[in-house]
Amino acid sequence: MHAFREVETAAYCPRKLYYRRRSPDPEEVPQEVTARRELAFRYEQLLADDRAIDEAPIAVTPTQFRSRLGCAKARLDAWESLVDPPDRDVFLEGRDCRGIAHKLLGGDPPSLSLAFAGAPPENGVWHPQSVRLIAAAKALSWERETSVEQVYAEYPAYGVIRKVDVSVRRTAEYREAVRIAEAIDGPPARTDDRAKCEPCEYQAKCGVKTRSLRSLLGG
Ligand code: SF4
Repeated sequence: MHAFREVETAAYCPRKLYYRRRSPDPEEVPQEVTARRELAFRYEQLLADDRAIDEAPIAVTPTQFRSRLGCAKARLDAWESLVDPPDRDVFLEGRDCRGIAHKLLGGDPPSLSLAFAGAPPENGVWHPQSVRLIAAAKALSWERETSVEQVYAEYPAYGVIRKVDVSVRRTAEYREAVRIAEAIDGPPARTDDRAKCEPCEYQAKCGVKTRSLRSLLGG
């Protein structure tokens, strides 16, 4: 049984998952991440209250934030559920993976949402986040014994909410990440995509020199 976060990390870089499993201390969610996720439960307030939005830890201007959320409100059938979800921070356990869904949405078929603290890609969702979303969708599907067809990715500091289909392709990518997570028994190869190493907390241990590390070292 894997944590949602483990399969997300396996999809990001298998070697990173190898290091994470050997980290002595359980990592706590940073306060900044919690504060940003919390914004996903305050959309109506942030749309209406100027003082609240001025004080909120958003990553875009208030005008951009409200414009994006306004579009989401007009576009998404699930808006009411996203704003006021029937359940939040719910532990789900499926056949392969378990973890927390930040919002469970009502309706038939059921759905859920995960809130991500970082920036969204230009379109869709980042690949590792897609894997995490499908892990959560499959766990919800397993618990409820029904199919989950769509889930939501929220980037609350950016005012962005995206609907994600639980498609055949995304499900195959999720299964591949589960397979990778299960197969790790020694340090896997480093990722070829060095851009992924820039924010990685294991780069010193990994022996990868990123641009930022090289500039710190004067190299
Ligand atoms: S530094 Fe790069 S290769 Fe090494 S674990 Fe992190 S992401 Fe993977």
